[in-house]
Amino acid sequence: MNILLLGSGGREHALAWKMLQSPLCNTLFVAPGNAGTATIAQNINISPLDFEAIKSFVLEQAVNMVVVGPEDPLVKGIYDFFKNDAALAAIPVIGPSQHGAELEGSKEFAKKFLVKNNIPTAAYDSFTKETVEQGCAFLETLQAPYVLKADGLAAGKGVLILQDLAEAQQELRNMLVGEKFGQASTKVVIEEFLDGIELSCFVLTDGKSYKVLPTAKDYKRIGEGDKGLNTGGMGAVSPVPFADDAFMQKVEERVVKPTIQGLINDNIDYKGFVFIGLIKVGDDPFVIEYNVRMGDPETEVVIPRLQSDLVELFIAVANQKLDETVLSVNPKSAATVMLVSGGYPEDYEKGKVITGLNKVEGSIVFHAGTSVSGDDAVSAGGRVLAVTSYGHDYKEAIKKSYQNIALLHFDKMYFRTDIGFDL
Ligand code: ATP
Repeated sequence: MNILLLGSGGREHALAWKMLQSPLCNTLFVAPGNAGTATIAQNINISPLDFEAIKSFVLEQAVNMVVVGPEDPLVKGIYDFFKNDAALAAIPVIGPSQHGAELEGSKEFAKKFLVKNNIPTAAYDSFTKETVEQGCAFLETLQAPYVLKADGLAAGKGVLILQDLAEAQQELRNMLVGEKFGQASTKVVIEEFLDGIELSCFVLTDGKSYKVLPTAKDYKRIGEGDKGLNTGGMGAVSPVPFADDAFMQKVEERVVKPTIQGLINDNIDYKGFVFIGLIKVGDDPFVIEYNVRMGDPETEVVIPRLQSDLVELFIAVANQKLDETVLSVNPKSAATVMLVSGGYPEDYEKGKVITGLNKVEGSIVFHAGTSVSGDDAVSAGGRVLAVTSYGHDYKEAIKKSYQNIALLHFDKMYFRTDIGFDL
């Protein structure tokens, strides 16, 4: 079949790499893709948000399936766009409907969904400009640290965790009245702080049944010891050693099953990935957030561990026959380390030539922010490459990635040397 994958990051390179291993995949198009996907698939210069251009392309090229990498097209309703168009309705889109995508698009929607379905999560309330004073009063009933979350998508920057009450009240005003995050902060969720260790659980669902994919832990901060500014993610490992069978059984019973049942109860069309951000408090899982697509860089460790045919799984998702498939997972660990542009996540330069790609042995280099320039791959974003390796445990996998990173270079390349330090 002909498949169109939307997106341009390391996540999409990993999804493309895996789909191309399937005998069911004839031609893979990636819109817009990067220098990595260009070497294995056909990049096309279309924005994942230009639904009309996607429609024309899909019809011209007889595309049989669309796989959506990032959240934006989902939150903007690409699933519904296909479903409601007579010419496109028969072409499956792997991803949730716009209604389902609200689990990521609106933190208040997600919190309501969690509470309604009795899924463990931090206690919360939400406020608007009109109720800002009630919000300040609510903060007084909580203990530090205070967690303020802009309701809408804010590129991972919309969550503030503050130690001081007065500062938290001021920031609440800045968000609601001062529109600190624009439209995204017209509503703010205030929630109880949960003290624990974070991990991510990934689920593939056809809207009726589900498969729990391998767990992963990512490292969000720019600096060693997980200090400094937040990034899109500096590395990841899978599986997560502290998510043992007993814990994962709790996750499945208390979180995954009620999540899928909640979608069914609310008639939410959902055929795609659910990314559940968890925090382990003591021995118990609590949900921090839902995302409606795979994580990046978690995809670069989760997908390489799948032994099942990903295209076959996607077809089963589209036909709601996931319960008839078997998910097989490589028992080895996988780790990835992100190579980023110096200065990221603040200002950084692009267009730096990447060398050493052909010297790498025993790791997979997934491209993130790269593009093709003549015969070279050059940096084109903050996060540039994800170097993934397997090992008998995460330490061996990480070591392999660092050995290969020594062979790679671009001007002002930076990476963390402590991925997995807290496991
Ligand atoms: P991202 O896009 O970076 O995943 P986000 O902006 O969607 O994040 P959340 O995942 O809800 O927002 O929160 C960001 C981070 O803030 C979490 O990864 C976690 O470290 C911290 N956090 C959020 N809620 C809580 C909480 N209730 N208690 C403790 N820490 C929290």
